[in-house]
Amino acid sequence: MENIIINQNRINVTRSFLPPKEEYDELLDSIWENKILTNNGPLAIRLENEIKTKINNDNFLFVSNGTIAIQLAIKAMELSGEIITTPFSYCATTNVIVWENLTPVFVDINPSDLNINADLIEEKINEKTSAILATHVYGNPCDLEKIEKIAQKYNLKVIYDAAHAFGVNYKGKSLITYGDVSTCSFHSTKVFHTIEGGSVVCQDRELFEKIKLIRSFGHIQDEYFAAGINGKNSEFHAAMGICNLRHLESIIAGRKRVFREYDNQLDFRKIEKVTEKSDHLEYNFAYYPVVFESEKIALEVVRSLNQENIYPRRYFYPSLNQLTFLESTQSCPVSEDISNRVLSLPLYPDLESEIISKICKIINSVVS
Ligand SMILES: *Cc1c(COP(=O)(O)O)cnc(C)c1O
Repeated sequence: MENIIINQNRINVTRSFLPPKEEYDELLDSIWENKILTNNGPLAIRLENEIKTKINNDNFLFVSNGTIAIQLAIKAMELSGEIITTPFSYCATTNVIVWENLTPVFVDINPSDLNINADLIEEKINEKTSAILATHVYGNPCDLEKIEKIAQKYNLKVIYDAAHAFGVNYKGKSLITYGDVSTCSFHSTKVFHTIEGGSVVCQDRELFEKIKLIRSFGHIQDEYFAAGINGKNSEFHAAMGICNLRHLESIIAGRKRVFREYDNQLDFRKIEKVTEKSDHLEYNFAYYPVVFESEKIALEVVRSLNQENIYPRRYFYPSLNQLTFLESTQSCPVSEDISNRVLSLPLYPDLESEIISKICKIINSVVS
């Protein structure tokens, strides 16, 4: 039984936020009164309304996770053939394309912000291309203007996987509202979470209604319109979201404090920071990724931190074009190189200063 005991001293890359339990209990009481557990009940509707106000967009849908959010977008827009995408993201971004029987066509990334390199998109477009699916990796905004122009020129749809972007504003507008569709994840490891959960935001009201319909099996009462899926979320998840939303500002402030401590203590002569590079950005401090000079040094840092019970993660590794189950071999040299050398450091609002200092000391001594 020993191996199921959780090591309390282990420092992971993240730790899920939990609201004061009384706040959650109060909403649970309302569920026990209403006896409504799911199917877009009052708490799910309330969470949707609160987020609509926050992001200043009415076309927001709460769904069961950030992966099905992308699937709903692909299905609703009836995409086919090839989708241009980024090799530097969580595997879900590629998996959904494959799962929907479409072909991912990878475009390499910028070395500065690790987002899809918009200057390399056009050369990958052909008559089979139906869309661009790009991730705002770590909450760094993609080159929205350039991608928009290319999409218009070639009549392509744009989906942004904005799983890292809740709480980020770009040019005064929420980063989870760009493109034809933006999807977000509210998984418990993200800045804002509903335990499991996600969202879809779209520009077009008709598309919004279609996604809303297929989120609930494609029927309304006794009328059956389309072969939908189950992408709904429950009242219990919505309750967690309502509680966590109240704490979002302090969660982000806490993360920012950790960020600045890393900024002040890491030796940037031999490591590179890849977030907070855009102008016009209000950032959510979602990840603290650093790129080392070589994979060897990155792995040495992992080993040295692990010895102290500290566990950074290789976010994102491997480069998704190298997933072994893909049908074609595509090369993305920048993404492959950076995936080998990048680590995300532990980051959560109440990460102790002593631990941050210890992490920085270890890293600085390994790289020097
Ligand atoms: C977390 C994440 C997802 C998946 O979201 P789930 O809610 O876990 O399904 C998709 N894309 C990116 C970039 C992510 O980080």
